[in-house]
Amino acid sequence: MDRVTAAGSQLPAYTPAVAEATREAYDRLAHVIPAIEWPVHAPYIAAINALKKQKNAVILAHNYMTPQIYHGVADFVGDSLQLAREAAKTDAKVIVQAGVHFMAETAKILSPDKTVLIPDPLAGCSLAASVTGADVRLLKQKYPGLPVVTYVNTSAEVKAESDICCTSSNAVAVVEDIARAWGVDQVIMIPDEYLAANVARQTAIRIIAWKGRCEVHERFTAAELRAYRASNPGIVILAHPECPPEVIDEADFAGSTAAMIGYVGTHRPARVVMVTECSMSDNVAAEYPDVEFVRPCNLCPHMKRITLEAILSALQNMEHEVTVDSTIASRARASVERMLAVTTRPARQAAA
Ligand code: SF4
Repeated sequence: MDRVTAAGSQLPAYTPAVAEATREAYDRLAHVIPAIEWPVHAPYIAAINALKKQKNAVILAHNYMTPQIYHGVADFVGDSLQLAREAAKTDAKVIVQAGVHFMAETAKILSPDKTVLIPDPLAGCSLAASVTGADVRLLKQKYPGLPVVTYVNTSAEVKAESDICCTSSNAVAVVEDIARAWGVDQVIMIPDEYLAANVARQTAIRIIAWKGRCEVHERFTAAELRAYRASNPGIVILAHPECPPEVIDEADFAGSTAAMIGYVGTHRPARVVMVTECSMSDNVAAEYPDVEFVRPCNLCPHMKRITLEAILSALQNMEHEVTVDSTIASRARASVERMLAVTTRPARQAAA
């Protein structure tokens, strides 16, 4: 019998045909999703994958999406930079951003002729909410002659006021590149004070930082990491640079979500903990079943607004289209494109 989604649409039941259509996805996910849960997810996955073809749509999924999204329906997976680049390259007419609002705005900025949908328009970000375009204009008045380097976790309006964007993958390279281009030894870096502090330790360029924080990564503590090490001898600790500097000091490796995944793929540690949003461990564990993951769970409530049901509804109803004013978009695009010119790293094609 068909079910009805919360959005009021018909959802096919878990039939042998749905089981067959989603068998490959389940094979990838069996390590992290119990078999008893699959009949709940599979009808959504089958319906979304069929609709994507009909509507010439692609789904860009951030590394913090749940495993059923990441391994079940995503066409491209990655961190902010990888997804931004993919948005610019795709031939699809419709982009569904399985991530938070600033990511969907970035996709729209880079692909103004495409329809960009976000499954839940309330999927925000504490960093993006911490700074406005007016704040950036005031900073530029206060520090004339210094470039503004802006983390991509910001609104289109803030990007438009900035000189260049960066991500946690490329922040050091971007800071050094723009300082060289402007002939200065100091830059303004917004909005993440911890990312700025962690970048400052890797470069001679002096950094004026804003006071924004990621509400997920600021909660990790150095004592917590020491406790992981004490109770899991030999564990490898990977941490995201949005964590406080004392947390980074306790880690074996610090890098963006993409860099952390790369570390696991290259080094195959026997036991690892990823000090970041907790869905990422599930996604990487599905890919590397031979690696044991210790899983602290700090969830991002904004990322978790994106569900299979919301993605299906967005595609069925072509709803929650993201638009950006054309003047803001062209100025913001210039900041993003300056960043893309500094560093490039291709997104990984999601498994079929
Ligand atoms: S994990 Fe942190 S930086 Fe990422 S969307 Fe959530 S609040 Fe924003």
